[in-house]
Amino acid sequence: ILRVHITPLKDGDKMMGAVAVMRDITEIRRLERVRRDFVANVSHELKTPLTSIKGFVETLLSGAKNDEKVSRRFLEIIDFEATRLSNMIEDLLNLSEIENSQENFKKEKVDLKEIIERLSIIFKNRLTAKNLSLDINIQDELPPLIGDRLWAEQVMINLVDNAVKYTPDSGKIRVSAKEAGDYIIVEVEDTGIGIPEEDIPRLFERFYRVDKARSRVMGGTGLGLAIVKHAVKAMDGEVSVKSQVGKGSTFTVKFKK
Ligand code: ADP
Repeated sequence: ILRVHITPLKDGDKMMGAVAVMRDITEIRRLERVRRDFVANVSHELKTPLTSIKGFVETLLSGAKNDEKVSRRFLEIIDFEATRLSNMIEDLLNLSEIENSQENFKKEKVDLKEIIERLSIIFKNRLTAKNLSLDINIQDELPPLIGDRLWAEQVMINLVDNAVKYTPDSGKIRVSAKEAGDYIIVEVEDTGIGIPEEDIPRLFERFYRVDKARSRVMGGTGLGLAIVKHAVKAMDGEVSVKSQVGKGSTFTVKFKK
């Protein structure tokens, strides 16, 4: 799209000529559309849990609260949706922090081994609840990655969180790390439900989910992988995924060494 702006040049009443300024506004238009879509998406995503909370509260107020069993179930749903809402706001703040302050990303030496070993503590209860095994495989004397410790940890947490969410009971999760050239390569592999090939190109977009209903039941925000992608990019790394439906998925992150 070209936008043309013409200014006449006059000497008193006499036309001397004109200056035409042409600007290609295709990119500006595209960014405007991306921003508009994002605002619309956010509003919709925030409204969904709120509508549910409001519905259950109204039902409780109009009498359901007198039935102890029913009110307990409703309160649990309200609690679940409120947590989801709060996670979503947290994730949105994380995303905008990455976008607005990439220059604030530290370039420090990060011990990935320590982060990975902490994962088994962070996820202990959820792993036990689903009878999932977490196998950790770290190369001996793994050199540090260069990046921001907190964001590197957030990336790992988001990937393992997904592996836990999308792997049925008694499955296996494996986290491994090794060096290769200028990179530290980390893999998070699971024996979960897998991702259809056609969804993979859009997987790292904000709010993109393969199965909206399943993500919602799992308490997902649809923002975890967008955070992974942006944080890894801010640390000059890369993230990719290979998956087979019904077999499992492997997310690979290349961090700078
Ligand atoms: P969500 O909060 O929905 O998990 P994410 O951005 O973390 O959002 O992931 C986007 C979507 O990618 C998920 O809704 C799910 O469909 C799919 N996905 C992510 N990780 C996995 C995985 N390990 N196995 C299967 N599907 C996954």
